[in-house]
Amino acid sequence: MLQPFYAFSESEGLKILVVGAGISGLGVARDLQDSGYKVTVLEARNKIGGRIDTDRSLGFPLERGANWIHSNQVEGNLLMSLKDELGLKTNISTLDTSDFKLFNKEGKVVTLSEEDIEKIEFRVGLAAYIASYVKPSSTLGDVIGLLKSLGLLSFAPDVVLKAFLQQLELGAAEDEENIPVSALISEYAYMEDAGDDEEVFGGFDQFTNHLSKGLDIKLNSPVSKINYLSDKIEVFANDKAYMADVVVISVSLGVLQKNLIEFIPDLPVEKKEAINSISWGSVNKVIFKFPYNFWGNVENFFIEREDRHAFTTWFSSEVMVNEPVVYSFFSGEFSRNMEKETDDYILEEAMKSLKVAYGNDIPEPEAHLISRWGMEPYILGSYSAPGHNQDDLKLRTELASPVQNKIFFAGEATSVLEYAFTHGALNTGLREAKKIKELYPLDQQSYPVTAINNSVTVK
Ligand SMILES: Cc1cc2nc3c(=O)[nH]c(=O)nc-3n(C[C@H](O)[C@H](O)[C@H](O)COP(=O)(O)OP(=O)(O)OC[C@H]3O[C@@H](n4cnc5c(N)ncnc54)[C@H](O)[C@@H]3O)c2cc1C
Repeated sequence: MLQPFYAFSESEGLKILVVGAGISGLGVARDLQDSGYKVTVLEARNKIGGRIDTDRSLGFPLERGANWIHSNQVEGNLLMSLKDELGLKTNISTLDTSDFKLFNKEGKVVTLSEEDIEKIEFRVGLAAYIASYVKPSSTLGDVIGLLKSLGLLSFAPDVVLKAFLQQLELGAAEDEENIPVSALISEYAYMEDAGDDEEVFGGFDQFTNHLSKGLDIKLNSPVSKINYLSDKIEVFANDKAYMADVVVISVSLGVLQKNLIEFIPDLPVEKKEAINSISWGSVNKVIFKFPYNFWGNVENFFIEREDRHAFTTWFSSEVMVNEPVVYSFFSGEFSRNMEKETDDYILEEAMKSLKVAYGNDIPEPEAHLISRWGMEPYILGSYSAPGHNQDDLKLRTELASPVQNKIFFAGEATSVLEYAFTHGALNTGLREAKKIKELYPLDQQSYPVTAINNSVTVK
């Protein structure tokens, strides 16, 4: 049996360990280190960034995970300030249905005026608002069903409604029957003045790379156990044990739900309930590089298929990478099921969609990338979702609350208003850094000597 070996070394002051080097973990570590604290980050994978995952294997940057800085007008969107600080160039887009080129099942282009799209948005929003009082357990699916049965959406062709719904579902990483009206209303309220979305030239990972500079990050260090029975917290990763006074957990909700980290003692019941109750969504991408561009200079398009989720929403990356690249983004149950399929099956199904819109003579792709976030060890899903009958405020506040003021929790799922977003995740890191600085002010540190392991394997 492998026994951890503690090589204690005296160090001054408080020792902080951050578990996870996604944007939230890097945010908390950066802030604390810049404020003078001693911080070490333990990251399970062989790279930093987590769900910010820029792939350069084709010779140019493509995003397997986060793609847009969303909500560029929202006050407190730190990615916008970081973008300016780093001098990053972006491509501004809006992801409204009105910006999509829409193809119906026969491959014909369907147009609808911006006013008509606004009419759909307004009716869905209003119906959701009323439903939230009359029947709070209603979902987006119920609202759409009701509006349809009353003929209030009959002015819009099927493809338009499908494209509109699919946008909401992608944002929520869930299907219409799992999106409660309460979440829809919050989303409408948040998005009202949120602004546009921006893609970052050169790769989204420039943010995480910047945040990581000068930090002590130990890669390939999957934390499996955290013992916080005594003052000193023991954190076990591989055959090593690290000692700390404060630990910040910034792993995904999926990792917490699968109990990949054992806590001794067990986490409090309310915390476990929050972990297990918050919905955990699924989105994925299939990215194609073709020998040439056959879709023109359109940036977003939607191709109607019988199954609304089946490779219907597409984005061109040509402006970003100057290469003929398009990708499809899909969500919910369809995304969960697709992850289990072979590459060949996924490519064939995705190509079926493109052929509906652009004909059977389109070329075969030269290269492809397929994400399977649910199967990605140490991530195990995409982002947290607005669950059915879920009291988001209560659950996410509970998830974010520290245990014994020693174990702190960051990560997108701990954000009440900005979950799922990278800027939201970063804010949770800074939120926890602030709590730690208040509880453990640097000028009052008379904490016990911290033991840091440089460790050795004992057989
Ligand atoms: C396909 C996709 C598209 C997206 N698109 C966007 C978008 O366009 N815009 C946007 O704002 N957001 C988007 N998101 C969401 C965004 O990527 C996430 O909300 C955000 O990156 C989460 O950051 P985090 O720090 O909370 O978690 P993570 O990025 O998951 O970081 C957690 C880290 O913890 C590590 N870890 C896990 N277990 C352990 C362990 N036991 N020991 C040590 N380390 C461990 C993981 O390896 C990971 O590096 C997208 C996500 C996906 C999947």
